Amino acid sequence: MADRTPQSAILAASKRSGDGRNPQLTKLVPALLDWFSANARDLPWRRTRDPYAIWVSEIMLQQTQVKTVIPYWTRWMQELPTIEAVAKASPAKIHKLWEGLGYYSRVRNLQKAARQIVADCRRRGDESLTKTKSETPSAFAQLRRDKHVVSYKFPDNYDDVLALPGIGRYTAGAICSIAFNQPVPILDGNVIRVLTRVFGIGENPREKKTNAQLWQLAAELVAFTGGARLRRAQISIAGDPATGKGSNGSTESRPTKNTNCSSLNQSIMELGALICTPRNPQCLVCPVKKLCVAYRENRVAALPNLGQRTATTARRFTAFVIERNGKFLVRQRPAGVVNAHLWEFPNTEFNGANAKDAFKSIFGFRPPALKPFYTVKHSITRYRITLEAWRVSFGGASSARPHDKMGCRGPSSAAPIFSGRRMEIPPSGKWLTPAQMSRLAFTAAHKKLASAATDCILFGP
Ligand code: SF4
Repeated sequence: MADRTPQSAILAASKRSGDGRNPQLTKLVPALLDWFSANARDLPWRRTRDPYAIWVSEIMLQQTQVKTVIPYWTRWMQELPTIEAVAKASPAKIHKLWEGLGYYSRVRNLQKAARQIVADCRRRGDESLTKTKSETPSAFAQLRRDKHVVSYKFPDNYDDVLALPGIGRYTAGAICSIAFNQPVPILDGNVIRVLTRVFGIGENPREKKTNAQLWQLAAELVAFTGGARLRRAQISIAGDPATGKGSNGSTESRPTKNTNCSSLNQSIMELGALICTPRNPQCLVCPVKKLCVAYRENRVAALPNLGQRTATTARRFTAFVIERNGKFLVRQRPAGVVNAHLWEFPNTEFNGANAKDAFKSIFGFRPPALKPFYTVKHSITRYRITLEAWRVSFGGASSARPHDKMGCRGPSSAAPIFSGRRMEIPPSGKWLTPAQMSRLAFTAAHKKLASAATDCILFGP
């Protein structure tokens, strides 16, 4: 069976019959909306139409699973319930709230965007002292309801949203469709998978032309939804349309107006997340299987055609866990590098040298002894990273009393004398207790080291 191209799928999607209705979309769109209405997960950011809350969820959900994001989102909204709160927050606070989510440029851009919104509102004189109204009883809404706060309006114009730092075409489409019910498309991995399978598109969606055509197809779908008079004029999330109650029995999640564009975009993402998954898609229970070209032509496993996978690259890092008087030497990563502003143990990329040479490359001398401490393996994009941590051993001294052997003298912040040499501490380095470290944001791998190091202090080597 010949592959369809995105262009032929677009033509099919935009084809109208004599009564002006598209026979394919007339079935597909209601099937998606009905399924979403009955099966959407009750996620905390779906209980609101607040663009700020939706924006935060969309940024967190990039590269991160829903179940991981829920506690992060909840904590963020409790700590920073308004755009103004984000704009005013310290870098340490936003990084701590993001700690473990990775891809930290996301949180820095989020704050830049919040500051831009506040500045734009002030310039236009748009700020208003209001008692914030929210229909949701979640903790963050309670915080907002009980206070008079200066309200800074999140832009509702697609181009203005797209112009904010850290917001690309997908995120702008998600915010504008979900929060404002605008007929703008979204295209992420889940949507690509569903569209290529349903429409039987065999071309590689990573290719520029195909990708542009998939955007157009996604636009056709949501435009059709926005203009259609659908059987359900009002879609409630995971709820019973008769009672308006959500799947958890609450009424809080019920949108109060026609939310077809919002629901359509979310339905495709949800179908991709729950049913039309990369491996083992649940075609038998899929609400659109009768309309799905890949299912009909037995090509589900072949789509989407993503071409050859990018080869992975192995990288090894060597880190040093150095303790003195119950404090550990850690340093802050500088601005302008990956994981900027986050904290870590001194480390260097393994370049074939042994661990003592790696230590020397950081501190300027070879340590007398090192003990294997902990190994962390993790992946970032195409990199498979191994972080090997060594504990600096001071002649066999216990971790509780290393400072005698180190010849440490003076206040705890002074550089220790070590093997007759004063140890050079990196400019951003600090000696911190486990409690102090717990208040700072570490990269995920180094957070594991910090946890293991703390256990050493508590329970011995
Ligand atoms: Fe995906 Fe299967 Fe549904 Fe087609 S029938 S959309 S391949 S889950």
